Amino acid sequence: MRPADNGRIFCLGPSCRVNGIAYIAGMTVEISAGLYAHIPFCKNLCLYCDFYSKIGSGSEIERYLDSLTGEAALLGREYVGYRYDTVFLGGGTPSILEPVQIRRLFDSLRSAMRISTKAEITIECNPSSLTSESLENYKAIGINRISLGVQSFDDRHLRRLGRTHTAAEARAAFELVRRCGFDNISVDLIYGLPDQTLEEWTADLDQAIEFGPGHISAYNLIIEDETPFGELYRRGELDLPPDSFQGEMYATLKERLGGAGYARYEISNFARPGRECRHNLKYWRLEPYIGLGPSAVSSNLALRWKNKPDLDSYLRSLESGQPPPHETEELTPEKTRQEYIMLSLRLAEGLSLDELKTRYDYDLIRERGESLKALASNELVVIDGDRVRLADKGLFISDEIIVKLI
Ligand code: SF4
Repeated sequence: MRPADNGRIFCLGPSCRVNGIAYIAGMTVEISAGLYAHIPFCKNLCLYCDFYSKIGSGSEIERYLDSLTGEAALLGREYVGYRYDTVFLGGGTPSILEPVQIRRLFDSLRSAMRISTKAEITIECNPSSLTSESLENYKAIGINRISLGVQSFDDRHLRRLGRTHTAAEARAAFELVRRCGFDNISVDLIYGLPDQTLEEWTADLDQAIEFGPGHISAYNLIIEDETPFGELYRRGELDLPPDSFQGEMYATLKERLGGAGYARYEISNFARPGRECRHNLKYWRLEPYIGLGPSAVSSNLALRWKNKPDLDSYLRSLESGQPPPHETEELTPEKTRQEYIMLSLRLAEGLSLDELKTRYDYDLIRERGESLKALASNELVVIDGDRVRLADKGLFISDEIIVKLI
């Protein structure tokens, strides 16, 4: 049985949240879950970024780590049946913490929650904040996956994005990570940058391929309203490539990475065999996860809750022993079914018509047969036995397609 089913069918608990203990035939069954801890501090705020983060001071970071420990303890007591086989330290910039602070954080997480000894443990790192000392410490703590926020290997674009590192620092960081013995490395890239040419994007891809990380995430730049880029865009001062050109960039991405042995397992994520991000797969496959910190999201498959993106109220609540302010949403069968369709179509494995019937009591052929037929005849989706997948032509316009099927 999938952990997801355990969570939904058998969980018992207080009225607010389900506590993650599964009982089958009188026996307690553990549930695999993902654990995310948000570090909402950066050295500098990038011009395009809308993640919840701020420039942190030393004492505030210390207070924050104490509060994160407090939240882990509260949730650890509530979700005693959860065993975490993926942990993701994201942000923000977790690598701006001192190694000793990261050790302290992991000691607290491990004492509050059951973290598997075989867990995939990722830390997001900014290339300018890595040293061999920090990497040696990460290894000793049990961190086994490094996610490097490179974004571009072109200094002109890095400056335009407001990144603090240079292309040379990104290259040096990658080599350092390898030298320190990490073999599970992910590199993040962004395309569709202001004034970016196809040649520049191809050069970024070729540079990433030359390093040979196991995993590459490549996201199309999205202009978020509440960012400096959002403001520049409103004033007409951002020269973004048109959609058709971004489609070409995406085609280049697939072709270049595909040719270098990276399989696209999600629309924006590519991996060599066995290097898919296990943590993110949990989100896309609707498995349970717990998120700690302001703006972090958790799901026990019956409810999803999001902590308010506000550091002050987060600190105040945890310092008085209370859960942080959060908003809770019930995951109704209809919502869960829509999310299953939406998320599984993002994956290369696609959705299973049988699973949709057995888990969600929904016959996609009966309910959306006409749309499905039209999409298939326009070569936007592929129907292959029990599986429906986005076809190559449909990948760059996935949102438009998904809307027709949910
Ligand atoms: S380093 Fe990452 S989290 Fe921080 S501002 Fe830049 S993109 Fe956002």
